[in-house]
Amino acid sequence: MDAILAAEHLTKRFGENPAVVNDVTFSVAPGCVFGFLGPNGAGKSTTIKMLTTLLRPTSGTIRVAGYDPTTHPGAVRRAFGIVFQDPSLDDDLTALENLEFHGILYGVPKETRRARIRELLALVDLTDRKASLVREFSGGMKRRLEIARGLLHHPQILFLDEPTLGLDPQARNHLWGHVKNLNRDEGVTVFFTTHYMEEADNMAERIAIIDRGRIIAEGSGQELKQKTAADSLEGAFLALTGNTLREETGGSMDQMRQARRIWGGGSRR
Ligand code: ADP
Ligand code: MG
Repeated sequence: MDAILAAEHLTKRFGENPAVVNDVTFSVAPGCVFGFLGPNGAGKSTTIKMLTTLLRPTSGTIRVAGYDPTTHPGAVRRAFGIVFQDPSLDDDLTALENLEFHGILYGVPKETRRARIRELLALVDLTDRKASLVREFSGGMKRRLEIARGLLHHPQILFLDEPTLGLDPQARNHLWGHVKNLNRDEGVTVFFTTHYMEEADNMAERIAIIDRGRIIAEGSGQELKQKTAADSLEGAFLALTGNTLREETGGSMDQMRQARRIWGGGSRR
């Protein structure tokens, strides 16, 4: 089957600095939940920005739902919804108003807009809170509302850039449960990043690991674990990334501590 999302030799340089995305190639099948993992500064958000028309590649090619973002940005924008790394709701509007506003921006006609909003509020479990101001929402509720907003125009692809950053474990589980349902019920392809390896292992059918701008491994969670003889994705990641980790010989507690440091361990940067 044709990929719904593909990058070939994708490269991004800012000025004279070394490439922050360096010759990246991957493809995502329609309906797939794809995890794009890597340490802070690896190039994940930059890659997502190129896929979503926000940044122009220095070189390489991209196809999103059959279109090149550099020549058909409008068609590409209609094909995806996105939840950014940084929250982007209007706190002074209600949940419903935030959705209405976004629907109008995207030109979703009034009749279908109302029905779609009702459907999505139910899907992310916010029907009862639709008239509340967003500033009263918990972090998890805000994230769920952003996901609903991203799906208003029936996109084929949903990008989630660290959607669970700063949420407590319960809210994280809840959010991923919704994403799973959306993938199943709407057939939407999901491309996500996260710092939390166990989330990635639970959610992703395919995983690519990016480190310092380069893809260093790709496969299912199971394949990555087998390849590295690790019993967790976190262990696989540790085995696959840089020398500094391998120098550490102190056993699993040390590895856990290393992993925490690299992956942020649940704290906001
Ligand atoms: P990640 O999302 O994996 O944490 P990013 O894609 O945000 O990483 O960043 C990758 C690298 O590119 C980082 O070193 C970051 O500082 C750099 N970078 C990102 N955006 C810019 C920019 N607009 N100008 C210069 N450097 C940037
Ligand atoms: Mg990022």
